[in-house]
Amino acid sequence: MPPESRGVTLQTNLYYANNRRNSKGSSSKGMAIISGPCSAETEEQVVQTAQRLAATGKIDMLRAGIWKPRTKPGMFEGIGAKGLPWLQQAKKLTGLPTTVEVATGKQVQDALTFDVDVLWIGARTTVNPFSVQEVADALRGIDVPVMIKNPVNPDMELWSGAVERVARAGIKQIGLIHRGFSSYGNTEYRNAPMWHIAIDMKLKYPGMPMINDPSHICGRRDILLEIMQKAVDLDYDGLMVESHIDPDKAWSDAKQQVTPEQLKEMLDKIIWRKEDINSEEYHAALEKLRQQINHLDDELMQILSQRMKIAEQIGQYKKENNITILQTNRWNEIIEKAFAKGEKNGLSKEFIMKYFDAVHMESINHQKKVMDS
Ligand code: PEP
Ligand code: MN
Repeated sequence: MPPESRGVTLQTNLYYANNRRNSKGSSSKGMAIISGPCSAETEEQVVQTAQRLAATGKIDMLRAGIWKPRTKPGMFEGIGAKGLPWLQQAKKLTGLPTTVEVATGKQVQDALTFDVDVLWIGARTTVNPFSVQEVADALRGIDVPVMIKNPVNPDMELWSGAVERVARAGIKQIGLIHRGFSSYGNTEYRNAPMWHIAIDMKLKYPGMPMINDPSHICGRRDILLEIMQKAVDLDYDGLMVESHIDPDKAWSDAKQQVTPEQLKEMLDKIIWRKEDINSEEYHAALEKLRQQINHLDDELMQILSQRMKIAEQIGQYKKENNITILQTNRWNEIIEKAFAKGEKNGLSKEFIMKYFDAVHMESINHQKKVMDS
């Protein structure tokens, strides 16, 4: 029996967003904007947040946490299933589809009973394969879109493992939410974005919408816009931003929430970028520059290959004289010089470090091959 269709689809929502924003003459490629409180607290709070969000004309879906896995005991752990009719009511009054976080099979059933349109798996659940499997098993045979947040730790395998578990349960519409990764000690962010992990997931699953959650990355409202703009620049498909009618009084995540009107103001400030344009001039200019890059990449490859051949010759000498491959002093000398040169040539210290580490490792491998031969 084919899974029962529930009508609202994640992709369709994204396309609606596309059409709506484009028909308004905006230059945005039409990201889906999901917003709502961190937690549902009272019926009035849910309904009023939804109404004020809907009034901005910029929101595609209402979010609210009903069950909240919290780091410490004693924190507000969510209002529970009693908040689900509030979301139903908010949907009825505003027409906004709804999404909630689910962490157990029972929560999946409860959410679906109350017509939640899209489910999401939270960061503290994605880390746990047993929990993800329980949610996936509860989803079997149901056609509902599911968004999967990255796990709390920077492990792409866990994230894609969760995607595979949900996909194997027969879920066709899977979205990804990038909410950053926790680390020890205070940093600028509550959860470091580590954009490269999300970009790798985007490349691995090109058909899955990638949604950015700036609220949990930032942990504070003053830098939300910066992260939102970066997500737009990196061609994300949506944003999930926490909003509250009275953010400072929110029962959870107060510091990172904004009012619906503040969210609208931020969305108005974003410079929307398109993936492409229909201009011959632009494409010709781009093509020319790309050819130059291809040419330089070829040259770099040849130079690197020459460098490795010399490393092999060094390996041969070391072998004949029984000398260790790793020579710490020599390496420190190379890196110091490279930092200084890199800086003069506009290359960051971080890049120089990564580049030389990679080259050094490859060089060691080449020398090792010679030694072992
Ligand atoms: C949330 O969205 O409110 C939440 C708990 O997020 P995360 O799973 O990213 O911590
Ligand atoms: Mn939250």
